[in-house]
Amino acid sequence: MPTELDDVNYQVAVANRILSEMGLTTGVTASLGHASMRLPSDSGRFAVKGRGYAIDVLSRVLPHEMVVCDLNGSQVEGPAGLTPCYEIKMHSCIYRVRPEVQSVVHVHPRYTVVMSVLQKTLVPMCPEGIDLVRHPLPVYPHNKLILTDEDGTEVAETLGDAPAVLLLGHGAATVGKDLIQSVMNMFQLEEQARMNWYAYCAAGPNHAQIPENLIAESDNRPPIHELPHLAELFGGSPAPVNNGVWLDYVDRVSKDL
Ligand SMILES: [Zn+2]
Repeated sequence: MPTELDDVNYQVAVANRILSEMGLTTGVTASLGHASMRLPSDSGRFAVKGRGYAIDVLSRVLPHEMVVCDLNGSQVEGPAGLTPCYEIKMHSCIYRVRPEVQSVVHVHPRYTVVMSVLQKTLVPMCPEGIDLVRHPLPVYPHNKLILTDEDGTEVAETLGDAPAVLLLGHGAATVGKDLIQSVMNMFQLEEQARMNWYAYCAAGPNHAQIPENLIAESDNRPPIHELPHLAELFGGSPAPVNNGVWLDYVDRVSKDL
């Protein structure tokens, strides 16, 4: 019988592979980044990608190669020879101050990084992830790796109650109520950053953005299953959550697991 930890390690390994498949850790950044998840039965511990693999890239991690750390970032379980990822304090310090957060992701996505160096606030440019950038995201104004408890605490304080924090010239960290949300938040953040970059290149730093009043039009849209032409088809039940993107990526990366 698989244990809870077996299941968590599987989910965390899949999430790390998905970050690569999504293009968020590829080429020169193939080994840079990590997804983590709290243990459901012990909120003081979380599973995360480690360091010390024969070929250390996110696209190749295996479930039994994940390590478990406590909220000090100290390793409490894991295969011999492995260590936690170097920026483990980003995870442990965020978990300490955000009890509702169940998953943390950190990567170095290219468009997010370049926009942070340009110090251009990300603004709404497309529907995907629009709520992430509807208000300016917090920026941690340092380029250094997050290696100490002081650094991690500063990042967590900068994050505050936001879903993401930008790390100037370095990357970003996203959080979520589960692995899917933290990974999808990063995927959508990078998509907004890419669209911001296109607009910046096409029209300069004062380019247009989707205005707040138009975004607000969607705030009170009727539920899909209550629309007159669909209500009978849905039988009064809410439309199912569309997580096709996630399931497609899970399928792509788990064939050899
Ligand atoms: Zn980093």
